Amino acid sequence: MQTAVKLEHLSCHFGSVRAVDDVSLEIYAGEFFSMLGPSGSGKTTCLRLIGGFEAPSHGRIVLFGQDASKLPPYARDVNTVFQDYALFPHMNVRDNVAYALMVRGIGRAERYRRAEEMLELVKLAGFGDRRPSQLSGGQRQRVALARALINRPKLLLLDEPLGALDLKLREEMQIELKALQRQLGITFVYVTHDQGEALSMSDRVAVFNQGKIEQLDSPKGLYEYPKTEFVARFVGSANVLEGRQIGQKEGKYALRPERICIRPGSEKGPNRLVGELLDIHYLGAQVRYEVRVDGQRITAIASSDEIGLGIGSPVTLSWELSALRPLEEGVRSAEE
Ligand code: ATP
Repeated sequence: MQTAVKLEHLSCHFGSVRAVDDVSLEIYAGEFFSMLGPSGSGKTTCLRLIGGFEAPSHGRIVLFGQDASKLPPYARDVNTVFQDYALFPHMNVRDNVAYALMVRGIGRAERYRRAEEMLELVKLAGFGDRRPSQLSGGQRQRVALARALINRPKLLLLDEPLGALDLKLREEMQIELKALQRQLGITFVYVTHDQGEALSMSDRVAVFNQGKIEQLDSPKGLYEYPKTEFVARFVGSANVLEGRQIGQKEGKYALRPERICIRPGSEKGPNRLVGELLDIHYLGAQVRYEVRVDGQRITAIASSDEIGLGIGSPVTLSWELSALRPLEEGVRSAEE
């Protein structure tokens, strides 16, 4: 597999802030790769380093086998889609999309032909004469995408591109983006703080925490086998239990809410906890139960509310032994 992006011990410091702290990773050509993490975890800075908008303090950036660490953005075969779209308000959609070709001196007829092709690709055929102000948020996002794709970059960087859209449009655009990426075969590097978005679109995801990668894995790997407490909680909001499994050392374990079976009553036993039902949230297809067990809050998700539990009543939580995933120490816990 060809490597599109290789980061070698990459760091970027702003004064005493280590925005990106010794990150090494490889992104393969044709991959949909996401950088996921909470606000301030360093994912945008990492993307900006790849795009050349920020200079590394240490380390190397290799793009398609070439050291790009010192290349300016325009000399990299990379385009970026920003969250605020950065469209030119005084230009119509067609000229916005064709901009990169105009800068390269490509003639008007050819420019417009390719702009039309791109507008069709993002389902905006016939919108060429409008101004950005005459478009909806989702349409503007598509124009930004068409503009970034028109010169067929090998690599497209996307920084929370769907952040400004409402949930429904966001979900539609997730499906379209993924389909577009497959169709074009371009490597996408996608920054988001939304774990659902990262899981649903990506081939692999790097989870960032305090400038470091906490885990790099497939969506399924992250969800089923979180390595650390941070990943377990951030991806899919797992419960973290402390204790000792029979025959094992004391440790922390992740337990997914949907792997817990909840029943009325107090039945003590192995792989069970007894607690008090604090709250019930109706989610539509599922119901989420909040339970207090020895001062700790545990979440369980069940498919329906037929068990008829009342708030304040005693409940028994149980799970299969295989549902417990042992956790390792996180990236920073040693220093804290
Ligand atoms: P968000 O989702 O909020 O954009 P992020 O994970 O993308 O967060 P970054 O924007 O990469 O995080 O920021 C990482 C850290 O670096 C933060 O503490 C931020 O305040 C700091 N930082 C980023 N850019 C600069 C800058 N130009 N000058 C100083 N500090 C910066």
